[in-house]
Amino acid sequence: MFIEKLFIPVGAALQMTAADFTPEGVLVDLRTTAQTADCPTCAMSAHRVHSHYQRRLADLPLAQMPVRVHLHIRRFRCDTFTCGRTTFSEPVPKLAAPYARRTARLRAEQRQLALDVGGEPGARLARRQGMGVSPDTLLRLARRAPEAVRPTPRCLGIDDFALRKGQVYGTLLVDLETHQPVDLREDRSAEVVEQWLQTHPGVAIITRDRSTAYADGASRGAPDACQVADRFHLLQNVREMLQRVLDGQQEALVVATRDAAPASTDQQVPAAETVGPPQGAPAPAPPGGTASLPAPAPAVSASPLCTAMQRSQERRSRRQERYTAVRALHAQGVGIRAIAAQLHLSRNTVRRFVAASQFPERATKRPQPSKLDPFIPHLEAQLVAGQDNAMQLWRELREQHGYRGSRGLVSRWVAQHRHVVPLPDPNRPPQRGRGRPPASSPSPKPPAQRRLSARQAAWLLVRRPEKLKQEEERSIERLCQQAPTVEVAYDLAQEFIQMVRERQAEPFDGWLQRASASGIAELQSFVVGVERDKAAVVAALSSPYSNGQVEGQVNRLKLIKRSMYGRAKFDLLRRRVLARSS
Ligand SMILES: [Zn+2]
Repeated sequence: MFIEKLFIPVGAALQMTAADFTPEGVLVDLRTTAQTADCPTCAMSAHRVHSHYQRRLADLPLAQMPVRVHLHIRRFRCDTFTCGRTTFSEPVPKLAAPYARRTARLRAEQRQLALDVGGEPGARLARRQGMGVSPDTLLRLARRAPEAVRPTPRCLGIDDFALRKGQVYGTLLVDLETHQPVDLREDRSAEVVEQWLQTHPGVAIITRDRSTAYADGASRGAPDACQVADRFHLLQNVREMLQRVLDGQQEALVVATRDAAPASTDQQVPAAETVGPPQGAPAPAPPGGTASLPAPAPAVSASPLCTAMQRSQERRSRRQERYTAVRALHAQGVGIRAIAAQLHLSRNTVRRFVAASQFPERATKRPQPSKLDPFIPHLEAQLVAGQDNAMQLWRELREQHGYRGSRGLVSRWVAQHRHVVPLPDPNRPPQRGRGRPPASSPSPKPPAQRRLSARQAAWLLVRRPEKLKQEEERSIERLCQQAPTVEVAYDLAQEFIQMVRERQAEPFDGWLQRASASGIAELQSFVVGVERDKAAVVAALSSPYSNGQVEGQVNRLKLIKRSMYGRAKFDLLRRRVLARSS
């Protein structure tokens, strides 16, 4: 009978005696076909039936209908004289484990569901598919899953991940050749790595980040293995080094980026940008041409734009106060750690402020191109003509001029420019509720200038020179002209980056010598760090192995961790990360 094949696992000595399709699901009666059964204690074959009973099992659903199995089971008498057992139930290993409430294949399916998507979503999915199960049961199944035996990898990648950010970290080990995670540990100490490598001998290549913990653990656990420092972290260290150099060069940063800005067409506020209010917003030019330090927000207040400017002014002056306080404390000889604690600032911020000879301005945003740009002349003309109804203007733009942007873009532009566009016709009847006194200044264009922060400049300096835009190239040029220190650091940094990208280890020793002779403290401390980890850095400059895919595995781990809402413990996270659905 064909339908039997759906309910009886291949090779099982079972027979279907009835199948009933009810609205609640499918009910199947099965019985065993063998004449005898083997006693589980003495393994002798038994013939005499002692009694009968029924086992109820849940099975894989059929077309999303739950399937219940009524299994007719016999209890046999063991006649072996020396056997301690008198009766036993006949086993049906192909169908289900002893005492189990679900068939083996249903259990395997539900367990995989738990490993793939977790308890709660797994339970919802299972219910929809007709194999309802509670989230707790799913997690229990996942926890009891047998662990796959993994061969020790030849190339091992090690990275850490946050179990509780800033507090508890774990270690992920990845086979770089099969791209599979091999283990997960609840700690990121040297001991963890050492112990793992000692119990898994045969690892030849280890890629790792630049932390001393993993370096030490790897050297102790597998002294013969070749360690490869992560190239991404090396480049990151170079960028951080450059940023520290630039932090001490605020003046050069300001001058360089001002001079590098392309000559603006319109009335540009001269010289004021050096330390003036953040640019990028239309503001009436100050009468004297130069603005003094934190200029008060322009008198035309209450417009959303001016409020934003005011807020940004406030932020800037708060930041400047902090800067002054840090400098003052540092001048009194207070340490960085103590300043950070006293002013509730991060140590990095304090460090930057101490290094910065001048107040480090935040970067200003370059005005972004907007879908509205081509229509601005038209909008200006409309405002001048007295039409300032944003809704109407938007409709017009869309229907007659082919504008494809949002309505919000138009309303914001109108709100910002309504009061600065001169109205030629003072007799125009005021529009309802929108009477704003017309200002006399013409519409100022936001200056196409941006000020680079040390951080942004550092990013520019590590970019491939051939990928820089003309304007960015000019900024770097000016920066190097202004500060010879930056030029030296830039050249050496680019040489190092080149070595990393092109995997050239030969020029490395010469580079180290020149860098430590450069006289730049930040560069020298970078060299000291590299020297300490030299073998691994040299390997990074020559070996094809990289820690990149481990980062990818860490991302997968984070995704799984977050999907567990922090409810499940480490053991389950470990199971799910190491589990691979086939
Ligand atoms: Zn027996």
